Amino acid sequence: MRRVSVLGATGSIGTQTLDLIDRAGGAEAFDVIALTGHSNVAALAEAAIRLRADVAVTADLSKLDALREALSGSDVEAAAGPDAICEAASRPADWTMSAIVGAAGLAPTLEAAQQGRCLALANKESMVCAGDLLNAVCAEHGTTLLPADSEHAAIFQCLRGETAREVERVIITASGGPFRGRTRDQMRDVTLAEAVAHPNWDMGQGISIDSATMFNKALEVIEAKYLFDLRPDQIEVIVHPQSIVHSMIGFADGSIMAQLGPPDMRGAIGYCLNYPERRDLPVDRLDFAKLASLDFHAPDLDAFPALRLVRRVLDAGGAAGAVLNAAKEAAMAGFVAGRIGFLAQADLVELALNALIDEAARAGQTLEAVLDIDQRTRSFVEQRIAQGIEQ
Ligand code: NAD
Ligand code: MG
Repeated sequence: MRRVSVLGATGSIGTQTLDLIDRAGGAEAFDVIALTGHSNVAALAEAAIRLRADVAVTADLSKLDALREALSGSDVEAAAGPDAICEAASRPADWTMSAIVGAAGLAPTLEAAQQGRCLALANKESMVCAGDLLNAVCAEHGTTLLPADSEHAAIFQCLRGETAREVERVIITASGGPFRGRTRDQMRDVTLAEAVAHPNWDMGQGISIDSATMFNKALEVIEAKYLFDLRPDQIEVIVHPQSIVHSMIGFADGSIMAQLGPPDMRGAIGYCLNYPERRDLPVDRLDFAKLASLDFHAPDLDAFPALRLVRRVLDAGGAAGAVLNAAKEAAMAGFVAGRIGFLAQADLVELALNALIDEAARAGQTLEAVLDIDQRTRSFVEQRIAQGIEQ
């Protein structure tokens, strides 16, 4: 039986992963090793009992008793805290889904990457913060990295059987999020509820806000650089409101290869779960007669500065991605808490890059250096918020 672990099992990607595992036979078909979560220990325990996991871990130390209580009477071991998540991620498994949100996923993802099996990567932040490091760990241990982000899963599929050096460019599609077509001024007073209401995808809160600012696409550009070893000038972003074309590759001969599917993450997750085979998945089949049109247009870099700022990070290299990501996470926390407006998020990221990007580029990508610059960036942004940044 295939041993599987799901890090971030209670989230949007995590529950969709468990749904596919359940449909493929659940505990009868898989040997479930570790499931991890954060505040929702009831859901974590319920899944761990159903799938007969060896261990369930909550990131929140104060929830250990509640988790133990919820698991009582079962054989599932309970654990809590970031170190316990890393320990669970280091337990031998043949396939691990990395679906914790944010830079908190980096250390557990690096643990899973040391196992020499299959690592399905939804936690794009670990590639953004330390892509060279994660690639090196995977290479050293012979781990197969499978991108679970829909755009990168698309690129990965388009590359199968192709030669990487014949790739001229990759074209990452973006839905444009809930504020597509708006000017900066028209986004000044948007609310949290408006920012999380994504038109096409049903996702966790963090990535939904990232889609509204288009920082999600900025992260994905960096993720693509590391996953596919691309130069900055090879990576393009195109707005495609229908989210049917998940991304494309342009080859040296001018030919384009695209991967299409409905906007359902179980397509990309299921591809990773069944790799290298393709099996039936519970996703809608595209009906081209009913698709009215597929539209494409250039992104608006004035309205969405994330796509401009990411170019600085691509050029800088080193741990510059960790500055962009940490600043974005800290600024988003300020927006969610109602302490800053929507537009201030990108302003804060720009200020943080101005202050820290050179140092981060020189620092390079050890885990210590990345975590250090991550912490200092968060402090920088929190100070600016406390001082009352003007939009
Ligand atoms: P989510 O917020 O729904 O779930 C996050 C998971 O991480 C939960 O299990 C939560 O308990 C856990 N978690 C939160 N904080 C934690 C911490 N500090 N330590 C350990 N665990 C913690 O997020 P999501 O939408 O499922 O996204 C997960 C990852 O997948 C993100 O990196 C996101 O960018 C990426 N992703 C998501 C989608 C999507 O459709 N949701 C698509 C592509 C990529
Ligand atoms: Mg994506």
